[in-house]
Amino acid sequence: MYELPVLEPKLPLKALAVMTSGGDAPGMNAAIRGVVRTALNHGIEVYGIKRGFSGLLEDDMQLLDSQSVSNIVQRGGTFLKSDRCEAFKQPEVRAKTAQILRQKSIDGLVVIGGDGSLTGAHLLEEETGFATIGIPGTIDNDIFGSDDTIGFDTAVNTALDAIDRIRDTAHSHERHFLVEVMGRNSGFIATHVGIAAGAEMIVVPEHALDLEALSLQLASSRVAGHGSSGIIVVAEGKIPGLTGRLAEQLRIHGQKPHVCILGHIQRGGSPTGHDRVLASCLGAMAVKYLLAGYSDIMVGVRDGRIVDTPLDDLLRYRKGLDPELLNIALQLHR
Ligand code: ADP
Repeated sequence: MYELPVLEPKLPLKALAVMTSGGDAPGMNAAIRGVVRTALNHGIEVYGIKRGFSGLLEDDMQLLDSQSVSNIVQRGGTFLKSDRCEAFKQPEVRAKTAQILRQKSIDGLVVIGGDGSLTGAHLLEEETGFATIGIPGTIDNDIFGSDDTIGFDTAVNTALDAIDRIRDTAHSHERHFLVEVMGRNSGFIATHVGIAAGAEMIVVPEHALDLEALSLQLASSRVAGHGSSGIIVVAEGKIPGLTGRLAEQLRIHGQKPHVCILGHIQRGGSPTGHDRVLASCLGAMAVKYLLAGYSDIMVGVRDGRIVDTPLDDLLRYRKGLDPELLNIALQLHR
């Protein structure tokens, strides 16, 4: 459970808007529901904006009632849809969207998304003074200021379920499998999945890959007669095709690994109980922060407490992967 801050309502808000933006993540629906029901309970109207900043720019939004968020807490994806909107990176476009929001007498905007979307939310507030609150919604868990993000737990469990199945085959055929999980810039999913799956090796963008050592390790486990099968979890990295190239290299070194790329199955599916609770709390608290007069912040979780972080901190700092986690993973499989 989370420790929640006590916030005194200060502003008489009439209406707010909510959107999901960037890559979808399981639990976004629960967060929208948290925003909508909390706002309605405080007598605030809520506009649901379709397709993130694209929908905002096109004034594609509608008033949501309590019923409109019924039966969605258990669904993956986002019923408001999501999109990427290149145009929103231009200041004049952001100024236009603030006008659209003000014309409807909307007092605040809640943006649920990854670091790109939250950067957009920050710039909108900085340039136009329009109140924004961010909620970290991404399976990657790579957002500074929050220990956890909506969708991460579900993605880890989805990948884990797949790897447990793959291990049966790996064991039966005495083969190594390279399993690629999502994570272009960060190895959070790979590390957590690697630990939970008991992976023999984990490859993450944060650490340079020693191919020679990896190959030797695979060969020596085979010679020793134990661990002749195994799972190597690979974060996809920035340049597509990393896992295929890795397999090629290992073949040159005499190994015969299979490759399995989990891809988008990690993004979908019903959110875990953990993600539903996290998303519901963050959605509800986003409204309470707005009512208390906060703006230009992200509502996240740190050390079990719901906390706020200035949105511009996300531009300045990067969330690092704890190297000790990787060490633990590698020590445990020996
Ligand atoms: P995510 O939010 O999942 O990180 P993206 O990085 O693709 O996904 O960002 C989603 C959207 O957020 C972009 O399509 C754009 O509309 C907005 N956005 C991203 N970066 C910026 C930026 N630097 N300035 C303004 N808007 C941005």
